[in-house]
Amino acid sequence: MVNAHTETNSGTGTGTGAAGAEGAAEIGVIGGSGFYSFLEDVTEVAVDTPYGKPSDSVFLGELAGRRVAFLPRHGRGHHLPPHRINYRANLWALRSVGVRQVLGPCAVGGLRPEFGPGTLLVPDQLVDRTKARVQTYYDGETRADGTVPNVVHLGFADPYCPDGRKAALAAARGRDWEPVDGGTLVVVEGPRFSTRAESRWHAAMGWSVVGMTGHPEAVLARELGLCYTTMTLVTDLDAGAEAGEGVSHEEVLQVFAANVDRLRSVLFDAVARLPKNESRNCTCAHALDGIDTGITLP
Ligand SMILES: [Zn+2]
Repeated sequence: MVNAHTETNSGTGTGTGAAGAEGAAEIGVIGGSGFYSFLEDVTEVAVDTPYGKPSDSVFLGELAGRRVAFLPRHGRGHHLPPHRINYRANLWALRSVGVRQVLGPCAVGGLRPEFGPGTLLVPDQLVDRTKARVQTYYDGETRADGTVPNVVHLGFADPYCPDGRKAALAAARGRDWEPVDGGTLVVVEGPRFSTRAESRWHAAMGWSVVGMTGHPEAVLARELGLCYTTMTLVTDLDAGAEAGEGVSHEEVLQVFAANVDRLRSVLFDAVARLPKNESRNCTCAHALDGIDTGITLP
């Protein structure tokens, strides 16, 4: 269990700053508690945001000399299904404790027979097939503090941070886990898995893996000027790519459990390999340059 003490922090972004935990972290990791629960000296910070509460507290710890904020995507005990996660609050909360680069590993289904269970794929493209998720901060709606965000259209041609991808790929190779470099992650609404027809369609489009959580994390990160990188662990072959009964949740959990240790090692090595926040010079870092968003970011 986490040996943590709790603090509170308000990531309001209204000029008061993120009292208490501002600058507490530089890198954010969105993923399960398996990634941080054994770290010593973890500080739990409850963060509130203008978009409501994130999935859980933010857990602050140190790794390879880097200050990292962990956020359990589905909450403690995995009580939030993908379509009910407050993605806006999650990314805002991370930024409010100082995070500028985010790693968001996730479990996916493989859409091609060669991407079987245990494959690590670092996508370079994303297709959004979600249906009912808020995917922008710049919606023109008045916020609780009375401020109104401007209309902002950001480039998203390359949804993932090039430097983050390099770090993830090098980290995997350093652990003798040859990753698939590039590919398309299609994100579906869930919580159900795909039908065979949907799965065959996704594969026929040339897409690589299918998941339920990579979107809108990536675009919200971009809207906050954060770097975002995902690394996907294939836990099963999707319905159209295999001959049997299709995906079961038990299979997914088994493969994930069998790989969580090495995924954690790769993730931590990737954290160590990320550039310093102050030396970021990627598209993501400059996404908001010269743009008046109408709101103050935390
Ligand atoms: Zn970047």
